[in-house]
Amino acid sequence: NTITSEKICHTTCPYCGVGCGVEVTVNETTDGKKALSKLEGNRQHPANFGQLCVKGSNLLETNDLSNRLLHPSIDGKRASWPDAYQHIADKLSTIIKEHGPDAVAFYVSGQLLTEDYYVVNKLAKGYLGTANVDTNSRLCMSSAVSAYKRAFGEDIVPCDYQDLENTDLLVLIGSNAAWTHPILFQRMEKAKKLNPSMKIVHVDPRANATTSLADLHLAIKPGSDAYLFNGLLAYIADNNALDNSFIETHTDGFNDALACATLSVEEVAQLCDVPIDNIRTFYSLFVSSPRAISFYSMGINQSNSGVDKANSIINCHLASGKIGKEGSGPFSITGQPNAMGGREVGGLANMLAAHMDIENPKHREKVKNYWQSPTIATNGGLKAVDLFDAIENGKVKAVWIMATNPLVSMPNRNKIERALAKAELVVVSDVVEKNDTLAFADVKLPATAWSEKDGTVTNSERRVSRQQGLLIPPGEAKHDWQIISEFAQTMGFNEGFNFSHPSEVYAEHAGLSGHDNHDERYFNISAHQHISKHQYNTLRPFRWPLTGDDTKDNARVFSDGKFYTDNGRAKFMPILPRLPEQATSDAFPFVLNTGRLRDQWHTMTRTGKAGKLTQHIAESCLYINANDADALGVIEGEAVYLSSQVSEAPQICLPVKIDNKLREKTCFAPIHWNQTFASSASIARLFTDARDPLSGQPELKHAAIQITKV
Ligand code: SF4
Repeated sequence: NTITSEKICHTTCPYCGVGCGVEVTVNETTDGKKALSKLEGNRQHPANFGQLCVKGSNLLETNDLSNRLLHPSIDGKRASWPDAYQHIADKLSTIIKEHGPDAVAFYVSGQLLTEDYYVVNKLAKGYLGTANVDTNSRLCMSSAVSAYKRAFGEDIVPCDYQDLENTDLLVLIGSNAAWTHPILFQRMEKAKKLNPSMKIVHVDPRANATTSLADLHLAIKPGSDAYLFNGLLAYIADNNALDNSFIETHTDGFNDALACATLSVEEVAQLCDVPIDNIRTFYSLFVSSPRAISFYSMGINQSNSGVDKANSIINCHLASGKIGKEGSGPFSITGQPNAMGGREVGGLANMLAAHMDIENPKHREKVKNYWQSPTIATNGGLKAVDLFDAIENGKVKAVWIMATNPLVSMPNRNKIERALAKAELVVVSDVVEKNDTLAFADVKLPATAWSEKDGTVTNSERRVSRQQGLLIPPGEAKHDWQIISEFAQTMGFNEGFNFSHPSEVYAEHAGLSGHDNHDERYFNISAHQHISKHQYNTLRPFRWPLTGDDTKDNARVFSDGKFYTDNGRAKFMPILPRLPEQATSDAFPFVLNTGRLRDQWHTMTRTGKAGKLTQHIAESCLYINANDADALGVIEGEAVYLSSQVSEAPQICLPVKIDNKLREKTCFAPIHWNQTFASSASIARLFTDARDPLSGQPELKHAAIQITKV
């Protein structure tokens, strides 16, 4: 077939929270088919200015139809869409009638686009009457969200990517940005080259690729971050580095926070197990640098005290006035491509759309009025770990899982298996035909994938970008917003779900962000509430809040010292550091840390297809240092069994790789491999249900394990 047209389209990369802009050439042939022929970074996109990392560059290699789910099915038999909708509607209606709306739940994903997220939240919270809608973003950044809300009154990331380049001190905490957010790391490298006096401190128990850029590495004892930042708060106070005018005019709670921050530098050095001179150097850099950014991600968030850790960082910025200014602020970086878009539309069980709170009656009334919905959930729903507990104990009887594979990503896999086996109805919407979770599905629904999906995403600097539908969906695959809208209509909710294009969903979402709440919420994109399909399709990347002119970035947040708490003042939080719950013992003497590799993404359903991406590291392994390997009697390449408190029987077998940058008695394993792939690693299964009491985010950076030679 001859190519009849060639069009360059702008979209975004579907992998990490950097949210890079991508330029793709779409060819149309004489038989009306479309194909993608060329992909490169979009030079105009402010997140990446044309650069792409290796995952983004290889997107086209991962975009084939192998392992695609193409048709709906019920109990393993192919079904039509109307039959599948009716089957689910009958089951859910019966369950709701017999047990109430909270017997139903949705478990969704940071892979969804904002429009998908909006519609599923509207259905659950405003029509079915349950707030049981949680997301795998709970595993990613929910601690950062809770900390921002406690300190600022709203979930607002106060920095942007240019701040990373225009600062004097960059403190990277619990982040291997060189591998997990490569384009941001490249921007940091370039900034340091241009400005050699800019200092970089890397706080991480493990030296890794990111450490190479650092002037100082603090290899702290795993889990001791809050000691470090409580100590910094005390140091700021003791060294005349407080911004007293800012504290007095714009904050509350400083004295209470300081009363908890009593550690001397010597004590911090001991508790964090870091040489005292290194602690002094870090503290003195923070105090002497006019501008400082704290850049943190999963190493802070995935903890049983992740919210406190994040607030201990924010406290230091409030105390020194390093916030609301160029090159200064506490900057939480999300892992997933649309973790922030989900937050905007109430994608977490404790939130309502447009940054409103489910526990606030005024907010509930506003959202219900705007939706003109028959009901509104009145209490926060179940967070991820509690949600699967409730399925296991029979309180939740039906769950609809969208675009995520909790068997692999959630801790305590045995429990997730028991829960899904017990549920009366498991619906899974996904792009793949087979994965661990789909094995438990009663109803499978084929969803569209990147290059077919059409909507918006919000990256880590609050920038909204379009992800364009470039190809015609294969088989009978549908968009997630479309699946939920059509299902809602099957349930009889015709009025609220009469969407025929994602621009209509986006416009409604934008309208809600300005509906009767201008003065209370910072999140506002209501200038787009009447957006046309054409305007939506050509929407330029912009950062919220929208002030009317989306060709310009908004003013810096908090530059006026105004926060979104009831009295407009930021709140210091008194922090009493807590150590990880999954503590080591004689039986389980090693600390297991987990994370992403440079060239893989999540459970490898896409990146596992690209030969170039599997060349970097071809199989899962356990990184340990040479002394520990000697003590275990193993050499590089030999296999070991891993077991934990979750099940004393060995659960995982991995080859050893020596990494002498690890502290003794600590080890590291990648999160990606699972039973679909050769080594059946599925590392999260070794973790218990330990989680932060406020955010509910599981402690996925610190398990106590036993390692034995095979
Ligand atoms: Fe994609 Fe993230 Fe790489 Fe950018 S940095 S190309 S968003 S994976």
